[in-house]
Amino acid sequence: MRFNNQVALVTGGSRGIGRDIALALAREGADVAVLATTEAGAEATAQDIRALGRRALALACRVQIADEVSAAFARTAAELGPVQLLVNNAGVSQPVSLFDMSEENWDLHMDVNAKSVFLCTQAAARQMREAGGGAVVNIGSIVGQNAIPQTLGYCASKAAVDHMTRVLAIELARYKIRVNCVAPGYIRTDLIEQLAAAGKFALNLLERRTPQRRLGTGADVAAAVIYVASEEAGFMTGQTLTIDGGWTAYGYL
Ligand code: NDP
Repeated sequence: MRFNNQVALVTGGSRGIGRDIALALAREGADVAVLATTEAGAEATAQDIRALGRRALALACRVQIADEVSAAFARTAAELGPVQLLVNNAGVSQPVSLFDMSEENWDLHMDVNAKSVFLCTQAAARQMREAGGGAVVNIGSIVGQNAIPQTLGYCASKAAVDHMTRVLAIELARYKIRVNCVAPGYIRTDLIEQLAAAGKFALNLLERRTPQRRLGTGADVAAAVIYVASEEAGFMTGQTLTIDGGWTAYGYL
């Protein structure tokens, strides 16, 4: 049990990667606040956490809105205790060509994917500083460092997350707060299924382009999050760990 009786907060915990991360933290002994856009969505994961014997709190919180973030962290502290582990996972991806891209599309990606990391990490760090330390894990993406076309807002937001990880890490190190980023490649979730259904790419081509010849799972990402959040990674901060089946290492035909 790496996180026995510690309090974790996972954004975007209703489904996909965030749900697997929340459950993995609970299996390691953490009590978990699960955030999503609706309480009902978060509650489904919270129930599965309670079935594992841990405490769980389901909260509706749009992570790009400061007042909602403040309220969610206040309720978590009041009902579970101060947050010691934060996973900034909530994210959106709505690819569109540059010529069709709107100001709203840019703002959506930067707000939900990047501004949320500022707001949630600030709220968490205030509680962690009081509690004597903690760990923050940002879910970035391989597109934070590798470009794909028609994805300017998403790529820019994930590049921001990648670099925010370093800035936050060096600022918070003195408070015993570590900040790292896990950058997934292509992981089979609603997000990828919906993009494939919209014709943005074909899942079999993604598999063929991946040296391991498969898409990742939420469990693949959760395992990396558990490691970087744990004391086993106690001297690791400001780093990005890529989990992509070899996608970014591949440079051949
Ligand atoms: P999903 O679309 O399956 O799930 C997204 C999650 O984010 C849901 O829980 C959703 O909540 C939540 N969410 C979306 N918008 C908001 C918001 N404004 N406020 C609060 N919560 C919100 O995505 P994935 O699980 O695939 O992705 C999770 C993270 O991993 C994202 O940051 C994504 O960019 C990243 N990632 C994913 C990859 C992949 O291949 N799947 C690859 C690389 C990175 P709700 O259910 O309420 O809508």
